[in-house]
Amino acid sequence: MRPELEEYKKSAQIEIQFVAHNLNDLYKMRNVYLSKNGLIAKLMGNIKNLNPDERKAYGQDLNELKTYLEDLFNNHIKILEKGELAKKLQSETIDLTLPGRSLDSAPQHPFHLIADEICRIFIGIGYIIAEGDEVEEDLYNFTLLNMPENHPARDMQDTFYISDSLLLRTHTSPVQARFMQKHKNEPLKMISPGKVFRRDDDDNTHSHQFGQVEGLVIGEGISFSHLKATLDLFAKQMFGPKREIRLRSSYFPFTEPSVEVDVSCHECNGKGCSTCKGSGWIEILGAGMVNPNVLTMNGYDAEKYTGFAFGVGIERVAMLRYGIDDMRRFYQNDIRFLKEFPKR
Ligand SMILES: [Zn+2]
Repeated sequence: MRPELEEYKKSAQIEIQFVAHNLNDLYKMRNVYLSKNGLIAKLMGNIKNLNPDERKAYGQDLNELKTYLEDLFNNHIKILEKGELAKKLQSETIDLTLPGRSLDSAPQHPFHLIADEICRIFIGIGYIIAEGDEVEEDLYNFTLLNMPENHPARDMQDTFYISDSLLLRTHTSPVQARFMQKHKNEPLKMISPGKVFRRDDDDNTHSHQFGQVEGLVIGEGISFSHLKATLDLFAKQMFGPKREIRLRSSYFPFTEPSVEVDVSCHECNGKGCSTCKGSGWIEILGAGMVNPNVLTMNGYDAEKYTGFAFGVGIERVAMLRYGIDDMRRFYQNDIRFLKEFPKR
């Protein structure tokens, strides 16, 4: 190799040894020699100025120099990369002997404690659980439940609209309508727990959002006495074996006849106290026999089938069970309140 080219080998070696302290320096230096505008490229450009008989030998020397430099840089890059990796591993070592930071495990939210318990009671007597969407069509939330457009009962359940025909469901009953349409003319026993929404002013017993568990039973020969026995069993399992229920007639568009259901006060055993506001009874749910219109609209033969339905407010039951005075506490995320409940 020509002596002037040999010089470049030496200068590259010296620079690598004394000037390049890290990978970045090395990449820059490699560019000086080997990039598109680097030394080798420039020397290649000079070939055309040489005598034709010199060109071949010079070109060979240049290629040899190029290969040499490429190997030289690549090897050093590898060495430095290994070194930097080792340094990184060293600096990021985890000291496994340090004690861990303990996390506070969360108790269960009273809403879920009660929702789960209600579900367990009904699963125990053969109900299946059906869930639905919180954004629902007007058709399923109102119309198919015997509340056609302009029905006054819609006012009692004013809600948040997504569009003219989509809304945040005001009750879990649309799940019933959807379930009935799926199982046309088949007997069924289902409950549907979930969140519902209403345009209510928030106070200690009302919230724009709350939880509900709806139940629906349809079959041949289902009568009011089945409903009564079911609710009695629910009240006893939820509030204790000594609880009695009382039915008062009421009105809901989707049931006929309809009832409000009270349970005898678990605090005073019916004598009258502050929990039951002196009456000895506490209202816990609404229920009734499924309106034949609802059966017909959702694909059931109302001559052959009858059914009952009920709806329980989850927070309402939780407030009674745990003596909670304000419904808003369920959604305030106050850790002192939440810590009062048992862990899973
Ligand atoms: Zn009482």
